[in-house]
Amino acid sequence: MGSLAVEGPLVRWVADHRKHHKFSDAEGDPHSPWRYGETVPALMKGLWWAHVGWMFDQEQTPQQKYAPDLIKDSAVRTISRQFVLWTTVSLLIPPFVGGLVTWSWQGALSAFFWGSLVRVALLHHVTWSINSICHAVGKRPFKSRDRSGNVWWLAVLSCGESWHNLHHADPTSARHGVLKGQLDSSARIIRWFERAGWAYDVRWPNADRIDAKRTVEKAPEKNVEKESAAHAA
Ligand SMILES: [Zn+2]
Ligand SMILES: [Zn+2]
Repeated sequence: MGSLAVEGPLVRWVADHRKHHKFSDAEGDPHSPWRYGETVPALMKGLWWAHVGWMFDQEQTPQQKYAPDLIKDSAVRTISRQFVLWTTVSLLIPPFVGGLVTWSWQGALSAFFWGSLVRVALLHHVTWSINSICHAVGKRPFKSRDRSGNVWWLAVLSCGESWHNLHHADPTSARHGVLKGQLDSSARIIRWFERAGWAYDVRWPNADRIDAKRTVEKAPEKNVEKESAAHAA
């Protein structure tokens, strides 16, 4: 599915992602918007880098170092090698269906434009926004070593991925939107897969684990408020 979404060869994707977690927003992060500094012009340049520029960097993440387990897995290796094939399939399905349904070249072309080009472009901008926008702005209710934030207005489009602060605070949690009202459709799909028996050993968050990661603990916060109110009185 990732290959059909034109997200890049599987092993490369994982290697980049693991390196991002290891060095998030520090030197070594393949796509931090803070790469050039903290001034406004530096951040603008950094946002562009984190969004799309980094993918054209000569220096690529060494896959042997960051994903040796995946390289050893022959099924994963095959999928990774077949990236161009799946990309081609993904781009050809819409014009094929559009052409058959309308029985015209016009229909095939129109379906190629909307179903292939626009779809992939839109999806990529959402994926890239996690690297750029979600590392620059957003709320940070959880402890993480970086500047990852929760960006609510990207939650629906990104299928829950934009609750990125929680993801960095607790990377193995299958649900990113752990707080009340945080939509996370990816977590729902993982749950369905778990019920179908396709996903197992899934790490769901629980209340203790979430509370332990909070930047401001709930109870003491109230005490502080009470104290300062007492002082003011
Ligand atoms: Zn991640
Ligand atoms: Zn991140």
